[in-house]
Amino acid sequence: MKFTFHMKKILISLVLAAASVASGAEARPLVIAHRGASGYLPEHTLAAKAMAHGMGADFLEQDLVLTKDDVPMVLHDVHIDTVTDVAKVFPGRKRADGRFYALDFTLVELKQLRVTERFNAKTGAPVFAKRFPAGLSEFHISTLEEELQFIQGLNRSTGRAVGIYPEIKQPKWHREQGHDISRIVLPILARYGYATKSDACFLQCFELAEVKRIRDELGWQGRIVMLIEGKAKGEDGADHNALCTPAGLKEIAAVADGIGPAIMRVVTWSSTGEVKLTGLVKTAHEAGLVVHPYTIRVDELPKNCPSAEALHAALFREAGIDGVFTDFTDVTRAWLKSKSE
Ligand code: CA
Repeated sequence: MKFTFHMKKILISLVLAAASVASGAEARPLVIAHRGASGYLPEHTLAAKAMAHGMGADFLEQDLVLTKDDVPMVLHDVHIDTVTDVAKVFPGRKRADGRFYALDFTLVELKQLRVTERFNAKTGAPVFAKRFPAGLSEFHISTLEEELQFIQGLNRSTGRAVGIYPEIKQPKWHREQGHDISRIVLPILARYGYATKSDACFLQCFELAEVKRIRDELGWQGRIVMLIEGKAKGEDGADHNALCTPAGLKEIAAVADGIGPAIMRVVTWSSTGEVKLTGLVKTAHEAGLVVHPYTIRVDELPKNCPSAEALHAALFREAGIDGVFTDFTDVTRAWLKSKSE
């Protein structure tokens, strides 16, 4: 039998349909690898993503910022001086505030930098003392497309269907600098098969004005999560305490599928270690929103939280969250597995 181009196309669409059905029926609760397996390897490196993929993450997170030539890069901050050697390689390129910005460098320039474990730019000290040592081995910054190809390649070679969780970083700031990050990122996601609510993707952003714009003006049809700061105000000056009220959550639910609040918005601990639920998960669920708090760090527990075990139990059992961002995919996966047996 001759395999025509048309038959191949039908076969490919059948395979894609099966994959999207699988992602639509994803397990709950979700384990979201925060910047990859960042508890073990420098954040947002492909090595960290591979490790989290192997540890059984359901979703891998990408934080996105633009280069001078408008290429989305997987980086947590608009500054690059706390995770790279930029201060050594391009010493004259800092702004008046003393910081180095991804937006001031081309893709070719950023590719010359080495990525290292996160450190304090003033003191040089590592942020997490027991994590991967600074300056060892060789890591680089990836573009969004390089990372999507990497994850899709791993999905194919392992037979797993791990999703993506891209964050549009500081869109208001980007636009003030003359760069429209959302308008650049969305078509790339669509080109890689992330465009509808049944695709294995949650878009995320800390700015409600941008979430509304992404939905209403830019026509994003996929899932989107509104991130909520632990502090009162967002980077764009918005009131994040107000977002946690029933009225605020209703406003979010008109455009978004879920919220990603700081853990302290969901649960806190008294000085004697007693769990206190804030009620946010219940109110968000009543508004039809899923709740994916951030971030589980076994080496930096929330204030007064006695253990990683207590943290997982409070979030999953008592608060009833739908997923969590974790620096330690293996610990979170193991906790969920032990409770399901
Ligand atoms: Ca993030």
